[in-house]
Amino acid sequence: MKEADLIVSFLTRDQGKLRGVAKRARRPKSPFGAGLERLSHVRMAYFQLETRELVNLDSCELIRSQFDLVADYWSSVALDYFAEVSEQMLPAAETNDKFFRLLLAVLEYLRPAGGAPAGGAVDAGRVWRAVTYFSLWAVRLSGWLPELHACLGCGSVLDDPGADGVAERAYFSRGRAGLLCSHCRRLPGVGNSWELSADSRRIAAEMLQKPVSQLSTTAWVQATAADLRRFLVQQIEEHVERRLLTAPMLQESVTAP
Ligand SMILES: [Zn+2]
Repeated sequence: MKEADLIVSFLTRDQGKLRGVAKRARRPKSPFGAGLERLSHVRMAYFQLETRELVNLDSCELIRSQFDLVADYWSSVALDYFAEVSEQMLPAAETNDKFFRLLLAVLEYLRPAGGAPAGGAVDAGRVWRAVTYFSLWAVRLSGWLPELHACLGCGSVLDDPGADGVAERAYFSRGRAGLLCSHCRRLPGVGNSWELSADSRRIAAEMLQKPVSQLSTTAWVQATAADLRRFLVQQIEEHVERRLLTAPMLQESVTAP
């Protein structure tokens, strides 16, 4: 390895997540251009030696850069989050075409029709919908999404209205792979719990049934489905056994600088 070289993690459609060495990538006339920027969509030429874990990157041809999104603060945070979650969640060299398509779909969704407006400001609702959709499907595609209609503790149904006509409330807590009813959340050992609102459960149900581009475009603000994102981030963090660096940046209390 030389100083001008870079180690690059990249997601391929046919071979999953790979790591490779991009020689001279830091030089001004790098053969990679903007293709190694975060989440650039490229056609990558590389070769593998069976004896080495790292592939050798030869060159890449840019299909789509995310450069036009970077000027928008929340879009930029979303890109960091997509990159970190993909890097942490995906096992090396395992084909995952659905995950690849998920990334393309949410990146595309971040751009309003006709491209990002001058000045780079993207409708914040798009960003929050994209981040929530990506989180939900990333967890689902990894096989970690629990049943969202039943209490993990007692099995009671969480959607049905109770005797008073109100839907059974649902809660989650770090370290539990599912939801709890209002009774089970008080059992010893559960610890802190947060409510997953009925609205957020409805949003999750819609997201599991529709492509991101066809979601209903009711007004979204940062607080919309924030509980659902917290739940999904906790699920991801449990499985990758570390905290996500980008997750705190997406939390409710943070406002754009
Ligand atoms: Zn219960």
